[in-house]
Amino acid sequence: MNVTLVLPVILGWISGWFINYVSDVLPLTRRFSQPVCAHCQKPFSWAEYLTLRRCQNCGKPRSLRTWLVQILTTVAFVYFWLFPSKALGIPLGMLVLVYFGIITVIDLEHRLILHPTSLAGALLGLIVGTSIHSRADGLLLGAGKSILGGLFGFGVMLVLYLFGMLVARYRARKMQAEGKPPDDEEALGGGDMYLAGVLGLMLGWPFIWEALVLGVLLGGLISFLFLLALLLRRRYFSEALMTFIPYGPYFIIGAFYKLFL
Ligand SMILES: [Zn+2]
Repeated sequence: MNVTLVLPVILGWISGWFINYVSDVLPLTRRFSQPVCAHCQKPFSWAEYLTLRRCQNCGKPRSLRTWLVQILTTVAFVYFWLFPSKALGIPLGMLVLVYFGIITVIDLEHRLILHPTSLAGALLGLIVGTSIHSRADGLLLGAGKSILGGLFGFGVMLVLYLFGMLVARYRARKMQAEGKPPDDEEALGGGDMYLAGVLGLMLGWPFIWEALVLGVLLGGLISFLFLLALLLRRRYFSEALMTFIPYGPYFIIGAFYKLFL
């Protein structure tokens, strides 16, 4: 093994801790609080938490996600250390990886795009987008392209969001007619607007366009397969409209593809 890979392994493992920690505490307490056991809520000591030990109170092991994040982050750091993103380089690339990790885990587990992570992402996005575009266009025009990409991403999703509200209203009426209580399910989460805005800043104009199309196509394909499975099980009509489409992870895949591959 190449001895220089020790550094990305260590950085990757530390970044895995950070992604896990933020994903554990931010959705629950909205601040950087002491991490607690997901099963019995007893606070972990930092030594227990960082060594990934099972809870000393209830004996439950740490989640599979915790281990997956540690391993995948470390592997990704080593890979992009050896084959860095041409657009980002190594340091910015690692920051973006950590950011994508946090957004993906929180979105998958809680269907949430949090405002603090969107705000931090906007700052990172502006730096990344400006750095990508200023190489060819100079600093001012580069920043302009980043901001234009952000406005475009946010604007497109705002239109889709408003359309989703119409669908949700139709659905609520349908559920009322069937005598079911209404819920607050949205076809497209409002947080996806902010995420698309952040990714727009990162990629800038016109790359955000391609990343969004890629994300929507991929999300649509997976949703279509999902609906097909429901249809085959003859549950289409009652469940088809109740299926939330979490576009966030698909947008991240689209942006990841554009930035890293
Ligand atoms: Zn416990």
